Amino acid sequence: MRRWSGCTGTIKAALWGEGCEDSWTGVLFFSGEVIAGWGFDGRSMLGAEGGAMSGGPASLTGGCRCGAVRYEVADAFEYALNCHCSQCRRATGAAFKSLAGIPRGRLALTAGEDGLLIDGALEAAHDVRCGVCGSLLYSVVREGAYVHVAMGTLMDEPSIRPAAHIFVGSKAKWYEITDGLPRFEQFPEG
Ligand SMILES: [Zn+2]
Ligand SMILES: [Zn+2]
Repeated sequence: MRRWSGCTGTIKAALWGEGCEDSWTGVLFFSGEVIAGWGFDGRSMLGAEGGAMSGGPASLTGGCRCGAVRYEVADAFEYALNCHCSQCRRATGAAFKSLAGIPRGRLALTAGEDGLLIDGALEAAHDVRCGVCGSLLYSVVREGAYVHVAMGTLMDEPSIRPAAHIFVGSKAKWYEITDGLPRFEQFPEG
């Protein structure tokens, strides 16, 4: 097991990663935002573009509880995190939200597009839910460029795994983190 962290040059980027010979993951943060992630799952190298570098990324299906809304997303997530902020806890009703980030254009709705419940302004950051059952499917973030998929709505298994806990400073008191993933009080800073 090894870990490292640091800042580079004038762009105030922070880098951390951990792992062992069999597998490892890393994330690059810039100005408080994750801008790249990578990993090695023991078989194939996962790059900043996500997905296995040999061959194109597979497509994953996701959907809401009632089945009215379905989406397809490339198995090419750039990062995945467990967010303990109060917004994510209340939006999901869970101790934390596991989210996976990917450029918006790599996710497409395949059913139920007419019946969505949009929480927030369409042109700004907003949550996308099923209008029938209310499941939180994904959030449009980072000035509309990315989506954060609520990983619990994935029906297929993604290659990526959450690499850290964030906003641990506002985590539910009744929930104890029991894994060894890095923890950040808020969003990681460089
Ligand atoms: Zn539904
Ligand atoms: Zn959150």
